[in-house]
Amino acid sequence: MSGVAYRRGELHVDEVALPGLARSLPTPFYVYSASAMRDRLRGLRAAFAELPVRLFFAVKANSNLAVLRTLHAAGAGMEVVSGGEIRRALAAGVPGAAIVYAGVAKTADEIRLALEVGVAQLNVESVPELERISRVATELGCAAPIALRINPDVAAATHDKIATGRKGDKFGIPFTEAGEVYALAARLGGLRPVGLHMHIGSQITDLASFEAAYRRGADLFRALRGQGFALRRLDLGGGFGVRYADERAVTPADLARLVRRCTEGLDAEIWLEPGRYLVAEAGMLVTSVIYVKDSDERRFVIVDAGMHNLLRPALYNAYHAILPLREMPDTVATPADVVGPVCESSDVLARNRPLPPLQEGDLLAIATAGAYGAVMASDYNSFPSASEVLVDGARWAVVKPRRDAEAQFADEVIPDWLRVATPRSG
Ligand SMILES: *Cc1c(COP(=O)(O)O)cnc(C)c1O
Repeated sequence: MSGVAYRRGELHVDEVALPGLARSLPTPFYVYSASAMRDRLRGLRAAFAELPVRLFFAVKANSNLAVLRTLHAAGAGMEVVSGGEIRRALAAGVPGAAIVYAGVAKTADEIRLALEVGVAQLNVESVPELERISRVATELGCAAPIALRINPDVAAATHDKIATGRKGDKFGIPFTEAGEVYALAARLGGLRPVGLHMHIGSQITDLASFEAAYRRGADLFRALRGQGFALRRLDLGGGFGVRYADERAVTPADLARLVRRCTEGLDAEIWLEPGRYLVAEAGMLVTSVIYVKDSDERRFVIVDAGMHNLLRPALYNAYHAILPLREMPDTVATPADVVGPVCESSDVLARNRPLPPLQEGDLLAIATAGAYGAVMASDYNSFPSASEVLVDGARWAVVKPRRDAEAQFADEVIPDWLRVATPRSG
């Protein structure tokens, strides 16, 4: 059995029953299904079997080394946005040749690292960046394989904070300037323009947004080829939406049909960079009820997970389903706000959510938390961090231990001048 489901009344990830797991581990903890991740990757790969497609996992969605290793072992390359993510990918056993490097603020050190480890491609977001890559590559005596990230000026139907392909977003080079910048890339030393890149945003479920962008991308790709640029790769980015509530999630078959239609006769390798799509539904955040507080006609279910573990509800008003670890049939659901322990009014995981009767110590799973969850965590308020657990069939392992306050402040330093006198209390 793979993925997340109730069996015999208990929520399972693959063959591991979560109530049992919660007896071995303190909450909160993330739990990921390796098989669910592989299934998603396999589904995409099967749908695109007839097209020359390469898949790169967007590391920022879930950068745990065990997750990277799982997806790489199943055939995915990695898309990274920083030198730190390059080092993570390498540490997970991914070779440079399977890494594509994007990001708006690449420093000379990061570019040097990317070139030294031989990344497959650098996706370039601006002219000054192009010039810097040219300089670093020339110093190293190599030719950097580059693609320009083009901003297609498409307003993807998604949350404002995760749309990236509109005029005025900080990402990419304006569509209308692409020709000029490729010409510049051809003139500068140390550069080998091999592709065209775009990525219009995240959690997009409306295929029309992708279609508009992909058509613009494919047209531009043809035009640039016509002007003599030897481009071989059209990198269409990621952003494929998943099902948090009742969205109509993007299906691999729909996506493959669309890509085929938009790239008909292009004679190019198609690259895709799914992040969320591969991992979101494979992960959950398990939490315990600390208190149930009834006040002013509102019920607050106060839990030990919050915005310090999972920022998406506070940052994007994101919806996550909340499931009791033990199924509670024959109970009446009443609306409650599920809130975390952090001293911020925005630390709300769910508002007005119909939930079965709950009491202190009950266990809940916050669903669809495998993407943009643990990676966005912070030590704010010095609560213990959520550990991360990888399940594969009947096996499970802690792939990142919980960090308590002592671990969080272990590297903080009280300078000498503050050590001299012990302050009097009071
Ligand atoms: C974030 C990002 C992705 C992945 O986005 P998802 O919505 O998680 O699929 C892909 N490419 C680039 C350049 C990104 O910044």
